[in-house]
This record gives sequence, structure tokens and C-alpha cells, in this order.
Amino acid sequence: MTDASIVGAGPNGLAAAVILARAGLEVTVFEANDSIGGGARTREISAGFRHDWGSAVHPMALASPFFRAFALADRIPFVTPEVSYGHALGGERAAIAWRDLERTADALGADGNAWRRLFEPLVARGEKLTEFALSAMLPIPQHPLVFPAFATRVLRAGTFLHSSMFAHDAAPALLAGVIAHSVSRMPSMAATAPGLVLATLAQSTGWPIPRGGTQAITDALASDARSHGARIETGHPIARIEELRQSRVVLFDTDPAQLAGIAGERLAPSYARALRRFAHGNAASKVDFELSEPVPWANADLHRAGTVHLGGTWNEVAGAENVIARGQYPQNPYVLVSQPTTHDPSRAPAGRHTLWTYTHVPAGSDRDMTETIVGRIEQYAPGFRDIVVRSLATPANEIAAGDAAMVGGDFAGGAISLRQLLARPVLSNNPWRAGVGIYLCSASTVPGPGVHGMGGYHAARHALREVFGRDMPSLAPHAG
Ligand SMILES: Cc1cc2nc3c(=O)[nH]c(=O)nc-3n(C[C@H](O)[C@H](O)[C@H](O)COP(=O)(O)OP(=O)(O)OC[C@H]3O[C@@H](n4cnc5c(N)ncnc54)[C@H](O)[C@@H]3O)c2cc1C
Repeated sequence: MTDASIVGAGPNGLAAAVILARAGLEVTVFEANDSIGGGARTREISAGFRHDWGSAVHPMALASPFFRAFALADRIPFVTPEVSYGHALGGERAAIAWRDLERTADALGADGNAWRRLFEPLVARGEKLTEFALSAMLPIPQHPLVFPAFATRVLRAGTFLHSSMFAHDAAPALLAGVIAHSVSRMPSMAATAPGLVLATLAQSTGWPIPRGGTQAITDALASDARSHGARIETGHPIARIEELRQSRVVLFDTDPAQLAGIAGERLAPSYARALRRFAHGNAASKVDFELSEPVPWANADLHRAGTVHLGGTWNEVAGAENVIARGQYPQNPYVLVSQPTTHDPSRAPAGRHTLWTYTHVPAGSDRDMTETIVGRIEQYAPGFRDIVVRSLATPANEIAAGDAAMVGGDFAGGAISLRQLLARPVLSNNPWRAGVGIYLCSASTVPGPGVHGMGGYHAARHALREVFGRDMPSLAPHAG
């Protein structure tokens, strides 16, 4: 008999492994891929060019309660760009989210005060806001200081009311770019809620980037779990729960339907049906580039940005996202771009650059988006095409093949809708518990997507208490 098995070594599975191993349990992690990390992996495509396979920029790395307890920032080096994100507007124009609310608002001119009114109360309560966003949504009454300010802003920015918030195009575009991260219809309160949290972090703690690539985060988790006795078996997919019958508790870092398929007979039939009904969202289609020079952005501040959003005005970004919501390809899609080598030259041979980009596409798409993305960047950085040395496309169907939890290339672990923000995967004050000794810990449960480890944290905390009667261990580097 063993204590705990974890299916999947994504950031949430590894966060759970750290906690359970530190609590003194015997833990084994089974990972289908030959390498750990899931959506938080870094690969070398050609010699010396290190590209993040999935996530690249980590707003939650310094803000997540799990990573703060784990002291992630003391274990691996991060760079936090002064410009968290920029939004290209054509020609030399761009809107900039500085890691400072005042500076962002000042640059928005006549809309600066409206921007300040939108974000001041959220930035002032930043830590509480992150705690609220990363906990189960049901204990709303436990967040009296932050919930009313947050909810009224989600209501304004996430409904038709958004159009009366600003007079000019820069502030709404700056907002649209961050709301569009959720791959949802716009305006939508479900997409606006995480968008406002991300924009708040952008203007306070910033959007950090780990030196060497995202793999540094998952390697730090794996190394800590191993040093507390956990075993991690790669190249070992789990298909049936009988394979783990020796385990007192099993945690799934998978999508809900896979959990139902693997553990169905040990789950309540109505719960298994709910897992199979859980809706997946549309997808990401990625292109990694090797460049001979930095991207020649027409706007000077975009050169300093950790992330650049391309998509034009609020209406243009929303229009493109709404076409995708209908299962079609927009003519001028929204594109996310990050050039890690601006902040971390170790990612490419001297003088060369890596560029991480993706755009949104309908679920399951096999379309190579290289030409579309090159064309989009060229619009805001004339001459870009000429500095591309090599590119590698990872269409949505290949993202799904590279991580079984990302169904159809849905990198959010499930559609972001109001229903699925609350019922993730079902409405419950313990949404992580799937059955007796069975827990879901992936991005398909609360609090949802992103590299924050909080799905693993919540699931492991409940498993420790409910199955082993133990408390949360210390996660500090030198404890235990
Ligand atoms: C292109 C892209 C860009 C992104 N950008 C960002 C970003 O910049 N910032 C950010 O915070 N987030 C970003 N994300 C999202 C982020 O990567 C995910 O939210 C996060 O990885 C979810 O972590 P997880 O542990 O829940 O699941 P995953 O990371 O998906 O890990 C699940 C793991 O389980 C394994 N697995 C699944 N089924 C089985 C099985 N049956 N047996 C064994 N193993 C199994 C998989 O192989 C995988 O390793 C991005 C994702 C993508 C794809």
C-alpha cells in the first residue's frame, strides 16, 4: 500500500506532490510525457534557443499564496519587466500597462482618471484580490473588503456598460487585450473577472518571467518534492484507476472527462455525468520564432514590454474573439507576443532572440498560423519578416497531443463562462473532491487556469485533512 498517487506532472500536480511529500506521505507522480511540466515546460528547438512550450509569463508566480508559501522567488530568479504589457495601436501608437498604476494612468491622458478609478481600489487591495481570485468563489462573504469593489467593476467592464467608461481608444484597448486572455465572447463578465485580476497585478507586482524559461518553475517544484521523498515517473500514462489500487488517495491533474474515464466506477454516477458534460473552450495555436534581431516595434515602449497584445481597438479585439466563439477564424486575430530575450539573454545565443507568440483558434484546429502571426506583427513592427531565422508552429491539435489535459488545444482547462467559474467542475464548497480518496487538482477545477499551483494546493490540503487527518506542512525552503 502507498499513500498518494498523482496523475500528471503539470504545475498543479507537482504543487500537490510538494505538499503531500512534505506532510510525510509516500508519493508517486505519474506523467504521460517523457518530461515533466505539462503547460509549464521549456524546450530547445535549435542549439541555444530555449522556448516555452506553453506558459511564458507568470503574473501569479509572485502573487499566488502557494508560491508565496513555497518562497518560489527565493528559489529561482525572475525578471519583472517595467512594462508589464503593451497594446499596439498602429503606427507609433501603443497603450502601456506600466508596473505602476499612476504611470499607466498618466500616459492615458484624458482617460487617466477613469482608469485610476477603475484600478485604484483593486491595486490597493491587491493581495486580498489575488487571495479571493485563487480561492473557491463560494466563500464570497469571506471577502467583504474586496468583493464589492471587484464585482461592480466586473459588471461595468464586462457588459455593454464598458462603452461608456472611456472617451478615447487607448484605455479600452489596453483593457480588451487583457480580458481577451480568456478566449471568450466579449463583453463577458466571466472573461473580465480574470482580466481585471491580471491587469491589477500588471500595475502592482508585475508580470514576472523566470530566468531560463518556465521549466525553472516546474523543476523547482519537482526538485523539492523529490527531496522530500516523492518519486516522479515520466513516460507513464495512467488509463485505469486499477493501476493505482495500492494508493490511499489519487489526485488527478487531468481534464474532467479523463478523470471520469479513468476512475468512473469509483465516482457517483451523477458526478461522473457532470464531468463528461464539462465544456471545453476554444484553443491556442502557437508559433515560436528564432530572430536575428529584436522585434522592430514601431512604438519605443513596446521594446521594454514583457508581453505585447496585438488586436487593435476594443471593438476589433472583441470582434475577433466573437468570431472564434462561433467556431470560425477571424481575418485579423488577436495575438499575444513575448520576447523573453529582452529580459533574459540566456534564452538565445549571443545577439539572437527567441519570440513566443500565439493566437486563438477554434478548438481542435490543425491550422498553422505562422503566416497570419507574421503578418500581424509586421503591421506593428515593419521589417519583422526579414529578421525571422526559423519558426516552429504548434497548432491547437498538437498542443492537445502534447498535453492530454488540454483537450482540443483548450489551454484554460475548460471554457471560461460564468457557470464554469463557479461550477468548476461542479458547484461545491469542495470542488476538488471527486470521490472517496479521489481529487481533481488541475486547471479544470477552482481556481482555473494559470501557473499558480493553487488547484494542487487546495486538493492536497483537503486530501491531507480528509483522508490522513493531517495539517498543511510548512512549504518554506528549509523547513521539513
Ligand atoms: C500556448 C500556451 C500559453 C500559455 N500561457 C500562459 C502564461 O503565459 N501564463 C500562465 O500562467 N499560464 C499560461 N498557460 C496556461 C498554463 O500553462 C496552464 O493553466 C497550466 O499549465 C495548468 O496546469 P495544470 O497542472 O493544471 O495542467 P497541465 O499543465 O496541463 O499539466 C497536466 C499534466 O498531466 C499530464 N497528464 C494528463 N493526463 C495524464 C494521464 N492520464 N496520465 C499521466 N499523465 C497525464 C499531462 O501530460 C501534463 O503533463 C498557457 C498555456 C498554453 C498551452
